[in-house]
Amino acid sequence: MSGPDIGQAEIDAVVEVLRSGVLSLGPSVRAFESAFAESVGAEHAVAVSSGTAGLHLALMAAGIDRGCAVVTTPFSFVASANVILHVDAVPLFVDVDAETGNIDLDAAREIVGGGDARLPAKGFPDAPIPVKALLPVHVFGIPLDAAKLAAAAAETVVIEDACEALGASSRGRHVGTIGRAGVFAFYPNKQMTTGEGGMIVTDDAAVAETCRSLRNQGRDAMDAWLVHSRLGFNYRMTEMSAALGVVQFGRIRELLDKRARVAVWYRARLGQMEGVSVLGAEVPDSERSWFVFVVRFDAEVDRDQVVRDLAEKDIPSRPYFNPIHLQPYMRERFGYQEGDFPNAEALGRSSLALPFSSVMEKDQVDEVVSRLEEALSTQGPGKR
Ligand SMILES: *Cc1c(COP(=O)(O)O)cnc(C)c1O
Repeated sequence: MSGPDIGQAEIDAVVEVLRSGVLSLGPSVRAFESAFAESVGAEHAVAVSSGTAGLHLALMAAGIDRGCAVVTTPFSFVASANVILHVDAVPLFVDVDAETGNIDLDAAREIVGGGDARLPAKGFPDAPIPVKALLPVHVFGIPLDAAKLAAAAAETVVIEDACEALGASSRGRHVGTIGRAGVFAFYPNKQMTTGEGGMIVTDDAAVAETCRSLRNQGRDAMDAWLVHSRLGFNYRMTEMSAALGVVQFGRIRELLDKRARVAVWYRARLGQMEGVSVLGAEVPDSERSWFVFVVRFDAEVDRDQVVRDLAEKDIPSRPYFNPIHLQPYMRERFGYQEGDFPNAEALGRSSLALPFSSVMEKDQVDEVVSRLEEALSTQGPGKR
C-alpha cells in the first residue's frame, strides 16, 4: 500500500546516533524540534513517540478532562477519537462535508458556540456536559479552511489533528498552527517517517512545557532527577527516530513533490474513467498535501467487489475509512448506529485508497489503474 523513502543519509544519521552512545534524551530530538517549529511557523515543537501520544498530551495540556465533550469527526483514523476517551472526555461527532471528507466546521461551530452545556443525542450521560474543545482532522492531507478554524479557535480550545497533513496549508497558514496546538505523525506511511513518532506544535509556552513534562514521566524542567511534579507518561521519541526525522524533514519538499507527482499520474488516467472520482481534489486558496490516494466510486459500483478483484491481481487497496462511530467498541459504548452520520457513512461505503507513496513509479501507477479499469468493466457504469 505504501513504502517509506529512505536513502543513505537517513541510514548514516541513525548509525551515527548508535555510535554516539546517546540513544535517548539527546541532541537529535532538540534539533528535530527546532527545525520543525521554524519551518511550520510555530513557537514550540515537542517530539513524542507517536501521533496518538501527541494528541493525548495536547488535550491534557489544554485542560480537557473528565466530564466534558470534545467535538470531532467520525471520518478519520480511530486515534483522533480515542484520545478523547483516553482523557475521560466524550467524543461528540459532527458529520463531514460530502465533497472533502473533512468535518463540517459550520455545524461544529454551532455546537461549540452554543453555550457550555449541550445534551448530546443518545447513549451519553443524562446530565448535560460542557463542550470544551474541537478536535478537527485535516483528513487525507486536505486542509480545513484556516479562517473558519481561526474563528473556532477564538471561541473554544482547538486541537488540530494534522497527522495526515504535513505540508498542507490554507490561506497561507500551515495546518496545525491555527488552534491551541496541532499534532503531526511519522508512522511509515505518512509524508515523512521516524519509524514511529509524532510532533506537537503550539505558540503557547505553557502548553509546550506541560507536554514536555508529561512525555517524560511528569518531570518539570526544574525537577531534580527522580522528582516528578505530576503524573506523566513515557512518550519520549528516541534519538534514532529523531535523527531519522531530521534527515527526512530536511528533504520534506522533495518527498511532498514526489507524492504530488504520483497523484498527478493517477489523476491523469482516472479523470477519463467513468464511475470514479478523486476525493477533495480542489480546495480553493489552499495547498493540499498528499497522504493517501483515495478514490470515490459512484453508487452503482460494488466497492468491496473491486477490492476483491484487485487483490486477486496482487494489488492491495483499503477502504478508507470505516467511520469511527460504527466501530464495534463505539457502537457498544454510545449506541451509535447506521444512519447517524450519513455523509461519513456514504464516504465510508464508496471510497477506496489505492497504493500510494513517494517511491512509486509511473508504470506501477499505470498497472494499478489498468487493473482498476478491468475490475470496473465487469460491473457498474463501465459494464457495457
Ligand atoms: C496517523 C494518524 C494519527 C497518529 O497515528 P500514530 O500511528 O499514533 O502516529 C492520528 N490521527 C490520524 C488522522 C492519523 O492518520
